[in-house]
Amino acid sequence: MQITRNGIDTAAGPSDWFSGAVYVDTVATPSGASRLSASSVHFTPGARTAWHTHPSGQTIYVLEGVGLAQRRGGPVEVIRSGDRVFFEPGEEHWHGGAATRFMTHLAMLQVDDEGNSATWGAHVTDEEYGAAPAIDN
Ligand code: MN
Repeated sequence: MQITRNGIDTAAGPSDWFSGAVYVDTVATPSGASRLSASSVHFTPGARTAWHTHPSGQTIYVLEGVGLAQRRGGPVEVIRSGDRVFFEPGEEHWHGGAATRFMTHLAMLQVDDEGNSATWGAHVTDEEYGAAPAIDN
């Protein structure tokens, strides 16, 4: 048993992987036989990930706010507190905050044999992001 006390600094999401201001709190890191990686990710309005895939898929669970998610070839979907989304292994996708709302989600995945959690691609353009439906406040 290992207790990690609250007190680890929140990290800014790297600009290679995110557009806009994103902040990450670590929840679980892979260790030994456990491949679980989990983070609480805080998106400011308009902020989002780049396009990416996960080797073993990913579940996100929206803790707070209103956000957006899209798989390649699909529509931009509005996601809200209490919603969860599973992205299939290798399914290209992005997720982020709505244009006018903060969004926090718990992100959970299993890393691959080499410890990789994601493969990153191009940033989501303003045109791609702007295809989101209006959120109904
Ligand atoms: Mn993802």
